[in-house]
Amino acid sequence: MKFEIPDGVRRILQTLNGAGFEAYLVGGCVRDLLRGMEPHDWDICTSALPEETEACFAWQRIIETGLKHGTVTVLEGGEPYEITTYRTEGPYSDSRRPDFVQFVPDLEQDLARRDFTMNAIAMDLQGDLRDPFGGADDIKAGLIRCVGEPNRRFQEDGLRVMRALRFAAVFGYDIEEQTAQAVHENRTMLDRVAAERINAELRRLLAGKNVGDVLRQYPDVFCQFWPQLGSLVTLEQNNPWHCWGGWEHTTHAVEAAPADATLRLAMLLHDIGKPTCKSTDEQGIDHFDGHPAVSAQLADQMLRALKFDNKTRERVVLLVERHDAQLPPRSQVIRRWLGRLGPEAFFQLLEVKQADNMGQDPEKVQDRLAELDEIGAKAEQILAEGQCLTLKDLAVDGRDVIAAGVEPGPEVGRVLDGLLERVLSGKLANKRGILLNLIRSK
Ligand code: ATP
Ligand code: MG
Repeated sequence: MKFEIPDGVRRILQTLNGAGFEAYLVGGCVRDLLRGMEPHDWDICTSALPEETEACFAWQRIIETGLKHGTVTVLEGGEPYEITTYRTEGPYSDSRRPDFVQFVPDLEQDLARRDFTMNAIAMDLQGDLRDPFGGADDIKAGLIRCVGEPNRRFQEDGLRVMRALRFAAVFGYDIEEQTAQAVHENRTMLDRVAAERINAELRRLLAGKNVGDVLRQYPDVFCQFWPQLGSLVTLEQNNPWHCWGGWEHTTHAVEAAPADATLRLAMLLHDIGKPTCKSTDEQGIDHFDGHPAVSAQLADQMLRALKFDNKTRERVVLLVERHDAQLPPRSQVIRRWLGRLGPEAFFQLLEVKQADNMGQDPEKVQDRLAELDEIGAKAEQILAEGQCLTLKDLAVDGRDVIAAGVEPGPEVGRVLDGLLERVLSGKLANKRGILLNLIRSK
């Protein structure tokens, strides 16, 4: 094994075993160990009932929040580890937790409730596996396969549809054929799933390395929770820039963006307003005038519907709204944009523009990509030099303006705006002496 089981986990398994209970590592950590990846949490399952587990760790700090569902969280070396009694579960009506759980004596019953074979493997301290559903083979083959009958499993909990896609996108695995078919057939189960649960999976899915294939193969699933995507999926665009239809362009743009949920959401939604804005001229060329604003408005609705946090929503909407903005590589324009958006959003906008271009005819975008690089380099330089970008950076402030004899009130702001304007345009140096002289001479 490439990664060591932490000492704290070993102690927990030994303690439970020492008290006569079965105890195994299970779920994501075993899967990740078998994939040769470092697990990010270590879940433990045991034949001990919750109160028996608590008794085993009576001298340790215990968190009881999951107790009803059979989970005792033990703190070992400051790290929390979840220890869950073997259980089966009832349906997930729509919430994060199953409606009820039932403790069972047998590990295999616990494994059988889990979603995919790769997530239904248990491992003991010696590294020996209990793998009744062939999960280790599926991991070797890079396959996502439901435990048991796929249709039934997706009907128990519609979130599994999103989990299948998320694992496919993040691991680059294929979804096994029957499971894939059941994903399509049961996508409407997502209607019953809480927006927050879909949202959490979607973010991770979008940041996955194989997000492109998932978008290509499962547009119907995305349309289930975001029906606004429907007309983009079928959009044709006949114009010189575009060699692809709306969905293929969007998919390329998402793939081309850095693996970050905000940027990839911006790419997924940047052209969502195009179908509404489409017009075709006499030459048969399609135009989409005004689509960024419409896209931004739709994106705002869609992100609200899926309960995205305000920060993510506002940033995505901003990037969508500005994705098509003219941005010539001139320092004065760059200073204005840096001042208006702030550096973080500005560089995100460059990423968005780059990704958008990479979703267009590769032969025609080389110059624009080079220009974006140039803009990025100039922006870095402007920031490195600490150039003036906003009123805050100006070498004089309102007090100086008033001291020079301007009446306190709106005129003060107008004078400062005028100075900033000239500094940004490069016509005036941001030097206190020069600016003071100018104010006084007014
Ligand atoms: P990761 O933590 O990397 O997201 P994970 O597989 O560990 O992946 P968790 O949400 O931590 O995901 O769940 C732990 C385990 O619980 C899973 O490996 C799986 O066995 C089971 N599980 C989680 N969610 C579901 C679900 N919706 N239906 C069935 N089993 C599930
Ligand atoms: Mg996990």
